[in-house]
Order: sequence, then structure tokens, then C-alpha cells
Amino acid sequence: MNESRPESMSSFWMPFTNNRDFKQNPRLLVSAEGMYYKDVDGNQVLDGTAGLWCVPCGHAQPKIVAAVREMVGQLDFAPTFQMGHPAAFDLADRLMEYTGHKFGHVFYTNSGSESVDTALKIALAYHKARGEGGRTRLIGRERGYHGVGFGGLSVGGIGSNRKSFGPLLPGVDHLPHTHNLAKNAFSRGEPEFGVELAEELERIVALHDASTIAAVIIEPVSGSTGVLVPPKGYLKRIREICDKHGILLIFDEVITGFGRLTTPFAADYFGVEPDMITTAKGLTNGTIPMGAVFTKQFLHDAFMEAPPGIELFHGYTYSGHPVACAASLATLEVFKEQKILEHAKSIQPYWEDAVHALRGLPHVIDIRSVGIVAGIELEPIAGKPGARAYNAFKKAFADGILIRVTGDIIALSPPLVLEKQHIDELFGKLTNVLKNLD
Ligand code: PMP
Repeated sequence: MNESRPESMSSFWMPFTNNRDFKQNPRLLVSAEGMYYKDVDGNQVLDGTAGLWCVPCGHAQPKIVAAVREMVGQLDFAPTFQMGHPAAFDLADRLMEYTGHKFGHVFYTNSGSESVDTALKIALAYHKARGEGGRTRLIGRERGYHGVGFGGLSVGGIGSNRKSFGPLLPGVDHLPHTHNLAKNAFSRGEPEFGVELAEELERIVALHDASTIAAVIIEPVSGSTGVLVPPKGYLKRIREICDKHGILLIFDEVITGFGRLTTPFAADYFGVEPDMITTAKGLTNGTIPMGAVFTKQFLHDAFMEAPPGIELFHGYTYSGHPVACAASLATLEVFKEQKILEHAKSIQPYWEDAVHALRGLPHVIDIRSVGIVAGIELEPIAGKPGARAYNAFKKAFADGILIRVTGDIIALSPPLVLEKQHIDELFGKLTNVLKNLD
């Protein structure tokens, strides 16, 4: 395996990267095990972000590595159009078990973006199958991130991601975000203030009429825009309003699924049941690209009960790829055998105390935490939004910790197998970074 620098970095158009800046100061990872990456110079880098939120069980879990190796040798590919393979069916059953049988079916995709677009399409097709084809409107939220497909971009609420790509989907509206620094700064778990913002959904329904609205999609905790935790009671109220008007509720759990909040899904943490959950990332512990949409039984039933010819005409060549299914089956076993959720729950108070101990350090204007996630908001440098946190990210990497930044917010989401010593190392080094930041 090549562990040296690439011969050239001239051809790779890097995603979501400042391509001009990166080449001056590249960060190259060559291997990973447990809680650590190793970089090209042989330095250990503590993974404070589980890659991109996607490695809950830690890196190079032997069982997952073995399962991938075995399947790639046994069945490198098999279609799931008009045929299938046992692992795809077994995994679907295991995933339903993992949800506590709250969901009835699973549709496989290859990424979070594909899961989101799939869920939006299922919502539209479901209403149409039931003779309510007028329900085409989709509702997202400001500061929501739902991937980069045209559906996800349209319901997403990040201006910079949207502005270069034309008018996007028609018939989309957005709820306001719930972030309120003035009232909720330094909250632990769900903030106190803001439940009334759920009533904005009633306003949107009144404006467009419920008969035109297909679905609301929400990240239970917005991750990519800086760890925004919903105020107490907010998600329950959104669920009530959706029920009242026959609107489907989709939780985008691409980052919150698979234990991030110490429960199987954020839906369990908040005690609210959506009609669909979109997932990816932790589904295979990040090893092989895969996504999945969990649907309530009634959604599938609607297609089975519809007149002949009505089916969900949708799918991907790699839906239910055998190697991804093997990785996911092994991931679910690791969750059980290593009691990943129980461990996350037991270490959570230590994690939360350590995060909030950063309060009072230079530039820190807010800290929010939930499960094994934290957002640390820094005061922006005047006229240079994002520059302070980006500097923190670069310094942190040089000091041997991987953090993630979005705008002027540091987002932390390490593998759930972390121990106290990793928390101490992460926050010890981060404290130094923050103390020495311009
Ligand atoms: N939804 C959410 C909530 C996400 O956080 C992400 C990725 N961070 C996506 C969708 C898109 O996932 P992917 O990058 O796998 O397409």
C-alpha cells in the first residue's frame, strides 16, 4: 500500500475544498486504526470527527474488514433489479430489527444525498399512488443540509451551496432554523427556547394549503451548519402538525443515525417517529459507500395496494451492493457485540463536561452538545467569516487532532468507541489551539 506522497496533485478536483489553498499545505492520510489516523509523515492524528461523521465503531474494525474481504472474493457484484442476493435481504431484516421494528422496509442507495432524493421521491410517488398527486410541495429548513443532489439542494437551506446551480426544484418552501445565540447559548442537550418556531409550519400550510404539500424534511440535529440542536418540544410539535395535515415527515439522519446521540437514531433520542429516515455513513462504518431509506410499512403498502402498473420506478445500479451489505451486516454485529451504544451512553457525561470546560477560552461565544457531538462557535474575525475556525482546523491538524469546521463553528463527532484518555487528548490539544489563535 502506497504510504508516500503522490507524484502530483494536479488532477484531483477535491470536493468541498479550498483547492487553491490545499496544495500549499496538504493533509494526507495514509492509514487508520481505532481512534487514530496516520498521516503521510508518520504522525498520529486523533480522529475527532469519525472521518466525516461516518466511523462510529472506530477504524479498521477487524470483523468489518474481514467481511468486506470475504464478500468481494465471493460475490463482487450482483444486480438487485428483478433479482437479488441473500445479503441484501438479510441486511434489510437486521436493519428493521435495529430500528426496533418501527419501520417496515428499507430502500438501498449509495450515499446520503441519494437517500435524501430517494425519500423525497418516495413521498411524491406515495401520494400519487393514493390518488393525491396534487401533493408535490416539499418543505425543508434554513441551515438544513441534505446533500448535493438537486432534491437535497432544493430542500437544503445553505445559500452558498445553492447559489451557483439555477432555480432548483419548484414548489419548495423552508421553515426557519431554530438557532438562537442570544437566548440559548451554552445549552447542554435541547435548548430551552424556540418551540414556537414549529408553528411556522402551520403558516406555510395555511399559505399553500395542505393538499399541495407532500413532505417535511428535517435533520433532527443539523450537523453541517454547526451542530444546531432543536429546542425542547420542537420536533414533537412538527410531528403533530404533519399528522394533522396528512404531510409526511422525513428525518435526515445521515449523521445522527447509528448511535451519534447514544440511541439507535435521533428519532429515539427525541421520542418522535418520522415516516421515513434517511441514512448513510455509519451504516457501513464508513468502509463502503452505502445509504438506506427506512420507510414505515404503510408507505410500502400503498404501492402494493395501488392498481397494477403503479410501482416505485427508482433505484441505482449499486442499490444493495453485496460488499456494502456485508460491511453493514458486520457493522450491526459490532454494534451488538461491542455494546457501542451502551459505551457511548456511559462516556457521554464525561464528554459533555469536557466540551463545556472550553467555556471562557478566547473567542468562544457558544458551546452546544448532545450525544457524542459538540459545536463550539467562535467569534468571527471582522470581515473574514470562517477564517478563525479554518485557522483552528489547520493548527489542530498540525498538533495531531482532526476537527471539522463549518463557518466559524468547530464541530466534533469522534468515533463512539472513544475512551476518557481520547477525550482528554482532544480537549487538551484543542485548548492549546484556541489559546494560541489570532
Ligand atoms: N444529509 C445530511 C444530514 C448530511 O450530513 C449529509 C453529509 N454530511 C448528507 C445528507 C449527504 O451525504 P453524502 O455526502 O453521503 O451524499
